[in-house]
Formats: sequence, structure tokens, C-alpha cells
Amino acid sequence: MNVNQSAPPVPPFGQPQPVYPGYHQSSYGGQPGPTAPHIPYGAYNGPVPGYQQTPPQGVSRAPPSSGPPPASTAQAACGQAAYAQLGQGDVQNGPSSTVQMQRLPGSQPFGSPLAPVVSQPAVLQPYGPPPTSAQVTAQLAGMQISGAAAPAPPPSGLGYGPPTSLASASGSFPNSGLYGSYPQGQAPPLSQTQGHPGVQPPQRSALPLASSFTPPSSGGPRMPSMTGPLLPGQGFGGPPVSQPNHVSSPPPQALPPGTQMTGAPGPPPPMHSPQQPGYQLQQNGSFGPARGPQPNYGSPYPGAPAFGSQPGPPQPLPPKRLDPDAIPSPASPYVVDHGESGPLRCNRCKAYMCPFMQFVEGGRRFQCCFCSCVNDVPPQYFQHLDHTGKRVDAYDRPELSLGSYEFLATVDYCKNNKFPSPPAFIFMIDVSYNAIRTGLVRLLCEELKSLLDFLPREGGAEESAVRVGFVTYNKVLHFYNVKSSLAQPQMMVVSDVADVFVPLLDGFLVNVNESRAVITSLLDQIPEMFADTRETETVFAPVIQAGMEALKAAECAGKLFLFHTSLPIAEAPGKLKNRDDRKLINTDKEKTLFQPQTGAYQTLAKECVAQGCCVDLFLFPNQYVDVATLSVVPQLTGGSVYKYACFQAENDQERFLSDLRRDVQKVVGFDAVMRVRTSTGIRAVDFFGAFYMSNTTDVELAGLDGDKTVTVEFKHDDRLNEESGALLQCALLYTSCAGQRRLRIHNLALNCCTQLADLYRNCETDTLINYMAKFAYRGVLNSPVKTVRDSLITQCAQILACYRKNCASPSSAGQLILPECMKLLPVYLNCVLKSDVLQPGAEVTTDDRAYVRQLVTSMDVAETNVFFYPRLLPLTKSPIESTTEPPAVRASEERLSSGDIYLLENGLNLFLWVGASVQQGVVQSLFSVASFSQITSGLSVLPVLDNPLSKKVRGLIDSLRAQRSRYMKLIVVKQEDKLEMLFKHFLVEDKSLSGGASYVDFLCHMHKEIRQLLS
Ligand SMILES: [Zn+2]
Repeated sequence: MNVNQSAPPVPPFGQPQPVYPGYHQSSYGGQPGPTAPHIPYGAYNGPVPGYQQTPPQGVSRAPPSSGPPPASTAQAACGQAAYAQLGQGDVQNGPSSTVQMQRLPGSQPFGSPLAPVVSQPAVLQPYGPPPTSAQVTAQLAGMQISGAAAPAPPPSGLGYGPPTSLASASGSFPNSGLYGSYPQGQAPPLSQTQGHPGVQPPQRSALPLASSFTPPSSGGPRMPSMTGPLLPGQGFGGPPVSQPNHVSSPPPQALPPGTQMTGAPGPPPPMHSPQQPGYQLQQNGSFGPARGPQPNYGSPYPGAPAFGSQPGPPQPLPPKRLDPDAIPSPASPYVVDHGESGPLRCNRCKAYMCPFMQFVEGGRRFQCCFCSCVNDVPPQYFQHLDHTGKRVDAYDRPELSLGSYEFLATVDYCKNNKFPSPPAFIFMIDVSYNAIRTGLVRLLCEELKSLLDFLPREGGAEESAVRVGFVTYNKVLHFYNVKSSLAQPQMMVVSDVADVFVPLLDGFLVNVNESRAVITSLLDQIPEMFADTRETETVFAPVIQAGMEALKAAECAGKLFLFHTSLPIAEAPGKLKNRDDRKLINTDKEKTLFQPQTGAYQTLAKECVAQGCCVDLFLFPNQYVDVATLSVVPQLTGGSVYKYACFQAENDQERFLSDLRRDVQKVVGFDAVMRVRTSTGIRAVDFFGAFYMSNTTDVELAGLDGDKTVTVEFKHDDRLNEESGALLQCALLYTSCAGQRRLRIHNLALNCCTQLADLYRNCETDTLINYMAKFAYRGVLNSPVKTVRDSLITQCAQILACYRKNCASPSSAGQLILPECMKLLPVYLNCVLKSDVLQPGAEVTTDDRAYVRQLVTSMDVAETNVFFYPRLLPLTKSPIESTTEPPAVRASEERLSSGDIYLLENGLNLFLWVGASVQQGVVQSLFSVASFSQITSGLSVLPVLDNPLSKKVRGLIDSLRAQRSRYMKLIVVKQEDKLEMLFKHFLVEDKSLSGGASYVDFLCHMHKEIRQLLS
């Protein structure tokens, strides 16, 4: 153990070093330092228009002369990853526009030279006034909880009745060549919908593919598809709708029988929400506007009829479960303060007061809607009832009229019966050779200087209550004392990583404004101190341990922001070895690639959860870092993992800084525990997401934010009442970012039905896919991937066969009949099956798979929808003046016209595909070059040009980015260019290089499975 209370003149690195030559170079010795642009942070970091951070202008340093550059061999590994958004090994970035920002007083460079070593007593340098903290303007999104099995029913669709399929077994396709090519604009093999005469189902005799799931080999002729004409009333107006609230249910079919739509193009592609992801739980406890009028699906292709625009007969609305007059949803939940008595709860089941509780006996007692227990109303809560039996103050009390609200918790709800302290953020920065070489440390330190002004605040608070601390590390840890009374920060080194401890209490966690001068000084000095490091080895678990111990010592919850570059091979607890072995793919041992290498991280995570210590991990790997193991702690503590493969500050800073800003600023809750209560007959049985569970009911979250979703599976195991429906209450006890203990309550009332047909009429494909993907992605930890895939197919076939058997009218076995709401289940399921976790291509790394696996686990329904089925938007077809997003087309190469330009996004990746014969004027307008051949392939920034098309496309890119929780770096792909292979990976309706079936092939296979189940 070696604690240097009096700091050495140089940090005790592994190797002796000169006294930081760079330190005295002119650019840092009294000269203005790197620019520190003041960033106008928008709330939650939507794109900051016009802001491009200037690359750090630090001295570029050559690799150390002694010893080989540690990461050079890894370059080849970079850029493979679609999830990495390509390292620079693959993609040359275009010109990065640098906009010099106005310097604010607070970011003025220091007027005098810095002290060369951190703990040297020095005179406090005079600083300008601290930066004015810009107000975070908008309310940050609150936490969302989406239940997998809890959608309210959509308006009933038209045409729910006996199937009137016109499909004939004799194969009356005008297009006689059943297996002719898949013509552009031809209807795909699509689901029959009950009540709608549908597509000709594939006939067995005519379906060679149906008997074999082997996809056609690449290079052979394109496999034919089941081309069929559109028959009257064919339900292709129903895209996989992820409309504002992501309801899969297609809009009511309004085409009268007999309407001929021959030659019409295929169905609209999946639609994705331009709105916020996830179900927007309305304050009145039911799901919001998507259940109202469905949007019209204007014709996505020229000449296609508009669907849904013709009014159908009036639809009966499902019964309202909560009062429709409920107060409109506020930006954040109302906070209810019941004083010392605390929230009112049922004595038996402990459910919280909610609008479903029935007041009886003149208001003196209430009957619990979950367990029927009759409870006394405390005198201070008594109120008279009106003639309908409703409390006269119902509308004055959020907990009696709203679906979501918060209670202030009393001390009984606090750990050790003590109100919590405000949480802390600890920034833990890898300063090993790789982190320095890529420019990461300098970029990060520069950013933090301004970012610290935007720590989350509650309500109208002047400043954030969150305290901050700083640690740097390689194979030892350096703590920093940044107490406001110090003239210079002090470094303390902990080299005993086997038994890490916190060397200081006072001065480690500080208020940013009080210690601003010392913090700024520290952040200026860190890049210099380690500029010439040769240390390549890092530790990892001891870093988390140290952060957690620091929070424990300070008796508070908080978050660790870890910035880490390499596999932790230094001798220490949690040391890892490189165990990447692609030969395991498609073997029974493949699951080990997803499992953590050691149990040490689970143990550590458990300790973190007990302390309310959430870990966010930013990874900057050049090669395999074992994401499966490193992400265990973030995953179990409700944290996030960000991965930037082959990071180079100049190429990737926009993406990294954008993610970092959002992550640091967002509203977070800490030390949370969630419990879901239900009415009789239904119960929560399984949970998916980033959290820890020590028993079967309590979801423990060290941290929680609005980018995380907890999916809950409910089991129906007793009789349900159609009258009263099924009630759900989710209660989340947490510590706010200001240190207040609160309970957030969400209530939901669902309709029940006794008829299977009603069930199928009201199901939601997007939600099912979200659940099935999470279930499968968890399954790969324990089962061979093939087993997981097969069980998904079986599950889907059973769902569809059950419909066929019980709900559809008898018809030819050769006919594929799918429920209207599940028409797109096969196409989406196929996307899950051929996703990189379940069927990786050669270019997908083991780390990518582990990374995606844990990302998907916390995605909400909208995110999984676009992730598995990307949006493909044609850019030049819609009028230039149109301000709405162009309608998406199906993700298939056949939909690409070489005369057009397309944007493709899936929430993580963003491509701009340019057709080879696109008009020269378009090329000029967008890229400012004369011809297609002059466009730089792999460009990541479009030039800022003053013409309508350029503005429109850049605006659309900004808008797409603003909809996603992670920044999507743009990659320009030219038709026929080598980068096109990456792009084609996302054309999910086509057969994939990894052997994933095309949609058509998969549909044939699914049909075969269903027939087998029925026979
Ligand atoms: Zn109860």
C-alpha cells in the first residue's frame, strides 16, 4: 500500500519519466490553452446546431520511443463494427467543420503558468468569474416504464368478422410466374387478415421454398417471391405501425370490398415514430392519443392509393378505465406531500392510493382495488363523497385523478432511517497510453470544464446539488483533492489495487461552483501530467470498487462515469484475459462469449447496488476488451455502456461529446427499488432491463433514467373480470438528483376479454417483438444460439397457428392467414432472428454482440422497432418544401432507385446512400461537387450549403438524431462502393450475408411451421 500524501514531483508511473516536457511548451506555458468553447447546452442535448467543437489543439505527441505502440496491431480489428459506427480504419471522415465559438469569461485561459505538479502548494491563480450557468430550458423526460403486456386496446378495426378470403387455391395470379422476380412495387407475400380478402397464400405445390428453409445461395438467381396481385380489400394498408405511441395495430381498413388495386405497390414500409420513444403513459392512466384516431397513411409510393383516409363506420371505443376529464399530463409528475404521515397505502397489500380505490361508508373507509381489503381513511384524509360515490376533492388530488404522480417519501422510506445526502458524480479517467494517444483525455478534460455547469438540477434550483469527484488511473489509481480552499489540486496515489481504499474524504467530493478554480486547474493539468505516459496496462474492477467506496464513505448514492480503453490485464482483482474465440460461434459453447469471464464483477455489482452506485461505462477499445464482462456492473446497476471502437478525437469527438453531454445532464434517480402490484388474476412474473434483483419481486436500480426501459412480463393465472379489467400499479422508490426521497407511482387499467378473437384483435406486434427479443437475448446466456432461434420460431408459429385454428374461418390449408394485428410478426421476427446477436456475420465482433445484447435489454418498444427494422427514407421523391419526414420504404435493395438518395437509420447507425445515377444538380446541392464520382465515400459531415435540398437533408439528419438517445454518426455510402456492404447489412428484408433468410423465404418457412402444427 502506498499512499503518497505528499505528492511526488512526478506521478509514480511504471517507468521513470522526464518531467513532462510538454508541460513547458509554449502552448501551455502561459499561452492561451486549448479553446474552451462555451456550449449552449440544450436540455437533454438535442443536436446543438452549429456547434462543432474545435479539435483540441494540443501538442501532437509521437508514440513513446521505447516499446512498441501498444495498439497499432489492433487497427485491423477496427471498423468492422457497425455498432462502432466505424473506426477511422474504415471510413475517412469528411471535413469537419469547425466553428469558433465565442469565449465566455469562465473559459478564459489562465493568465499564468500552471504549477507543474498537482500537489505543489501554489498561489491561487486569479480566475475570471465562473461561467454563467445557462438554464437548462426544457424539462427533462421523466422515467418511463413500459409494460410488455400492458397495452390498452386500440380502437376496434373495421372488418372484424368472418374471413371472406377470396384467395383461391387455383392460383389466379395475373402474374403467372409464381416465382418470377420480386417486381418492384409488387405486393409482397403478406398476411391475410381476418375480414379482409387477402393475398393468395402460397400453395404447397407451388412452393418449393416452403419445404426447405435453406435460403438460396448467394450468387444464384434471385429467389422468387410469392408475388401476388392485390386482391380486393387486401389489408396492406396496415404497416407495422409504430405510430406516435407505437401501436402495431394497423389503421382500420377502409377499402370497400371490390376495390381493385391491381398493380399497386407493396405495403407501406414499417412506420416509425417521429415522436418520443416508448409508450407515453398518459396522466389519466391509459395510453395516449395513439388509441384515438389513427393517422392516415398517405400513399407511400406514387400512384398508390391512400389508406385509411376513407372513413369507416363509427367504431365503438373501449370503455374508459379512468376519468377522461383527468388533468392533462404535465411535463413531470405532480408531487404529493402527505407530510409526516406519508403516502396512504392499503394495509394488506401495501398498494398506494390511486384513482381506482373505492371510497365507501360515506368516505370513512376505502376498498383496495388490488386486494379488496377495506381500510380506514385517516381523519386528516377524510372527504365527503358526491352522489356518484366519488370524493368531492378527487380532482384536487393527483393521486385520485391521475395515472402518474409522485409522493414525497418520509424517513421511513430511507436507508437507515436517515434522509439521503445529495448524490455525487465521480469521473474516472483512464490515462494509459491509448487514452492519451487518441486524444481522449485532452478532449474529455476540456469538455468537463464546461459540462460541469450542467449537472442535473431539480425544478428551478439555482445550482445542481450533485457533487463531483475525480480519479485517474492506469494500473494504479490517482485520487484528487479539489477542496475549494486549496490553491492547486492534490494528487494521491493508491497503488495497492488488490485492496483499494479511498485515501481522502474531505475534498474529494465537492460542489462545482465552490471548487471551480481547483477543478479547472486539475482538468488543465491531467492531459499534461500523463502526456508522455508509456503505461499501457489498466485495471478495471478496482476503479469501480474505489468509486463505490468513496460514495460509501460520503454516505451518498451516485454515479461513476468510467472512461476506459483496454482489456484490464494488469495484476488486480477483476483481471481479464483475452478469450475471444470466434470458433465458438454455432457451437454449444457459444454462450460463453456472452457470459462474464469471472464472477467477480457480479459480486462487485451487488455491492454497488447496495450503495446506490450506478456505473456508466464509456469504452474506447482498439481491440477486444471483453464487453461481456466489463458491462456486467453497468448492466446490473442501471447504468449505460457506450462504445467507440478505434476512437480518434478528431473523427469521433462529435459523437462522443454528444453522448457524454446527454448522459451527464439527464435527470437521474438513484438507489431505487421498483415493485409492481396487480389486481387478482394477473401477476408480474418476469423482468427485463438494467437492474439487479435479489428476490422475485423487487427490482433494484442503483440508478435510473429516462433512457432505460424495464419490461415486465405478466402472467394471467386466474379468472379476470371483464367488468373491472386488470389493474397494475408500479411504484418506484428513489432518491432524486437533489437528494429527495420520492415514490413515483404509475397506474394502469387494462381491458380484459374472454374471446380469443378479441385478444388477437388487440395485440401489439411491436411490443411482442420487444419482449421476444429481450427474452431471446437473455436466453443466449444459457442456451445454444440455435436453440434460442428455434424456440422463437416455434413460439411465433404457435401464436399464429392458434389464431388459424380458433379464430379464422375454415379455408384451404395452403392459405396463410394471419391476424390483422400480427401481419408483420413474421417480418419483424425474422429481423430478430438474423440480428447480430443471434446470427452474426463475419464482420461482427464478439464485443459487438455483447454490446448489442445489453443495449437491447434496456430498449423501449420504439427503439427495438427501429433497431430491428431500420427506417429507409427516400430524400428526393417528396416535395422539397415538405417539412415532414418522407414516408419510409421497405428495407430491401429492390426499393433503392439509383436515381435517388436515401437515409437509413436504426437508432445507432445513420447512412446516406447515394444512387449512381442521381441527378447532377442533386449532387451539387448536397455535396458541392460536380459529379457522383467526386463524392467522398465515407464522408461523415455534409457541407453546409445554402440551398433548399441541403437544408432539408441536414435538417432531417438533425431531426433523426434528436429522436434517439445516442448520437448517430453519419456515413455517406455510394452505390457500388465497397462501403455499400455495410449499408446492405441493414436492408433486413433481403437475404443476409450471414445466412439470414429473406423476408419472403422466412414467410414460407413460417407457413410451413404453422401447417405442421395444424396437421
Ligand atoms: Zn390492497
